[in-house]
Amino acid sequence: MRSSGFEQPHFLDSCFLCQRQLSQNKDIYMYRGDTPFCSQECRQEQIEMDEVSEKRWRHSLKKSNNLRQSKDSTQESETKKAVRRGTVAVA
Ligand SMILES: [Zn+2]
Repeated sequence: MRSSGFEQPHFLDSCFLCQRQLSQNKDIYMYRGDTPFCSQECRQEQIEMDEVSEKRWRHSLKKSNNLRQSKDSTQESETKKAVRRGTVAVA
């Protein structure tokens, strides 16, 4: 039987960026709800890093979305054409 008990959650223990110990007496700068930072500077740095990677991610997502969309709309219009043609043929 293990006696380790509950594992304490890691967050709020130390700064996410510089790993500095966080004290309850000091201000903790939260980001994204559950990511603690010891200072505004650390948080800002993380925000900036996130923005860069998010922009990259969004950029690549946008690219692939556009590709897929143009492909889809082409397929869609072709399907519509086919349906219309079919309807005309039936009528
Ligand atoms: Zn820090």
